[in-house]
Amino acid sequence: MDKAAVIVPALEKDVPGLWEAFAPATSLAQEVVAYVLSPSRDAAEKAAGFASRVVWARVPEGKAFIGRGAAVLLGDALAKEGVAAILLTSGGLGSSLAPRLAARLKGSVVSEATGVEEGSQGLTVTRPVYGGKAEAKILLKARPAVVTVKPGAFDAPEAQGKGNIQELSGSLEEEVQVLGREEVKAEGIPLNAAPVVVSGGRGVGGPEPFQNELKELADLLGGAVGASLAAVDAGWVSPALQVGQTGTAVSPQVYIAVGISGASQHVAGISSARHIVAINNSKDAPIFKVADVGVVGDFKTIIPALIKALKENG
Ligand SMILES: Cc1cc2nc3c(=O)[nH]c(=O)nc-3n(C[C@H](O)[C@H](O)[C@H](O)COP(=O)(O)OP(=O)(O)OC[C@H]3O[C@@H](n4cnc5c(N)ncnc54)[C@H](O)[C@@H]3O)c2cc1C
Repeated sequence: MDKAAVIVPALEKDVPGLWEAFAPATSLAQEVVAYVLSPSRDAAEKAAGFASRVVWARVPEGKAFIGRGAAVLLGDALAKEGVAAILLTSGGLGSSLAPRLAARLKGSVVSEATGVEEGSQGLTVTRPVYGGKAEAKILLKARPAVVTVKPGAFDAPEAQGKGNIQELSGSLEEEVQVLGREEVKAEGIPLNAAPVVVSGGRGVGGPEPFQNELKELADLLGGAVGASLAAVDAGWVSPALQVGQTGTAVSPQVYIAVGISGASQHVAGISSARHIVAINNSKDAPIFKVADVGVVGDFKTIIPALIKALKENG
């Protein structure tokens, strides 16, 4: 295809997968234009490394958006741009913007893409379905094809070149106002940005292993501690640690599931992990079907042995 756009809603720091949408865009189109929503020019400067041209919509500092105003402003500009595909990260403003843009531009939309391929009939997008148990291939015939990209599914490309930056004028007024936001204080690395996640389930038997063995292992590996819903429901850890379909979807390099059976709702949240290690004392636990490395045994012996080996080998 001739031209694609990537929308970068850089309103908050460390939005997971923010730059990864440039990878599929670059593989699809000869020309990639970046549309950056951000209060500072920094994000536009960074986007200039990935795109031939950057259109920067300056947004007021600290203001939260739900997407309608941005969809009107960007939609008008993108209609003139004439792109065949628009890619943006899943989650947050990206998920709110995508369907609004598709509707305004009379295009098509699909979310959570893990693969994209241009064909003679349109854009074919691969995405997980049934909580990650299967993959669907969806053909988008109406242009532009608006696609949100699942964080962790693509590697952000290396920055190359330096596209021009032009500022987009116009109002970003929203009908719906976000009255305030309060940061939920979480210790350490956020789950969805951690390179390693060590999660505990009902099998760890109580809150103590989360504060001791699991935390020590996560700290040694530079990662974060997560949990299954069962551990959250038991009151052992904060709901902020829940991984899964109704918790956080994580995409670390290594996911270590400790005393977690591997219910489909839990596995749905770890399908983007590069490697899954399962530690479970039942060899029949379903988690072993999705694990790259499985250790059958009691976590009380396995985790201290792992910690010891890591300490000995630096
Ligand atoms: C609508 C809906 C949404 C849901 N969303 C989520 C979600 O987002 N996230 C989520 O996690 N769940 C979710 N669930 C719940 C899910 O179905 C499971 O009930 C839950 O994941 C089970 O948690 P678990 O694996 O920790 O516990 P269990 O299934 O009880 O598994 C415990 C495991 O620990 C092992 N074990 C026991 N002792 C040891 C030991 N000493 N050493 C090693 N292993 C040991 C056991 O063999 C067992 O496999 C959802 C359910 C529903 C219906």
